[in-house]
Amino acid sequence: MSALEKKTQEVLLNWVKCPFDEDHRILPTRLVIHLNRCARNHSGLKMVRCPFDITHVLKVNEMEGHVAICPSRKKDEMPICFEELPELKRQQQVETSDTTWDDEPVVATYDPQLYCAANPVVRMLRGANATERHQFREQERARFRAFREAAEAAPGKEDKKKEEK
Ligand SMILES: [Zn+2]
Ligand SMILES: [Zn+2]
Repeated sequence: MSALEKKTQEVLLNWVKCPFDEDHRILPTRLVIHLNRCARNHSGLKMVRCPFDITHVLKVNEMEGHVAICPSRKKDEMPICFEELPELKRQQQVETSDTTWDDEPVVATYDPQLYCAANPVVRMLRGANATERHQFREQERARFRAFREAAEAAPGKEDKKKEEK
């Protein structure tokens, strides 16, 4: 180990550079006291404290990067780590498709017309005269009646009724 390396390690191990003033070298045991005092003298610097270690003091724009790699961050404090969030989302999606959507058509093959004919949603009839509209309404009523009867026959589908008029 060279003299410079030794010196560097010594500094890293025994002395900490003050985040408020580069000329301040502080012993780790005195760091908390020093930071409290120095923060009052440098309140204009807009420095923030790391949520995981009060001796980590950085500028606001640097802290976002720091909390992701902070050595004091514990495993159970993941939510603050930005990289972990997409992973969590993917897991939730897999769970949903496993439990709820097994028998449903996949989104890519979704056909709105097919969906309309097979579900009690109100369909619109464009460019029809009064008689045609009346006939269409009668058809729709019959269709909804069939849905209601099916819903009543199958317990657990009561929520479908709320969509009917
Ligand atoms: Zn200081
Ligand atoms: Zn930290």
